[in-house]
Amino acid sequence: MEIKEFQKLIKDIYFEKDSKRGVEGTFRWLVEEVGELARAIRKADKSNLQEEFADVAAWLFSLANLLGVDMDEAIRKYEKGCPKCGNIPCTCDE
Ligand SMILES: [Zn+2]
Repeated sequence: MEIKEFQKLIKDIYFEKDSKRGVEGTFRWLVEEVGELARAIRKADKSNLQEEFADVAAWLFSLANLLGVDMDEAIRKYEKGCPKCGNIPCTCDE
C-alpha cells in the first residue's frame, strides 16, 4: 500500500469519528499509542511491536487528515536526503 492509499483508507475508516473527537482528542490518542509503542519496545515483543507501529501510523495519519495535511507531500521533505545537511546518509553532528 502506498502512502496516499493508506491516508485515504484511514480517512474512509476514521474521518467521521475523528472529526467528532476533534484535533485535541485525536492528538491525545496518538500520544497514548506512542506510549503503547514505548511499552512494546521495552518488552521487546516483536509481534506486538508491529501492531503498535501500525496503530501509531494510523493515528498520525488520522490527525493529518483532520488538519488537512497530505502525508505523501509532507514526506517529500526528505526525498533529497537530510533536510539540514542534504546528505544521504545524514552527516549532521548530533
Ligand atoms: Zn543531516
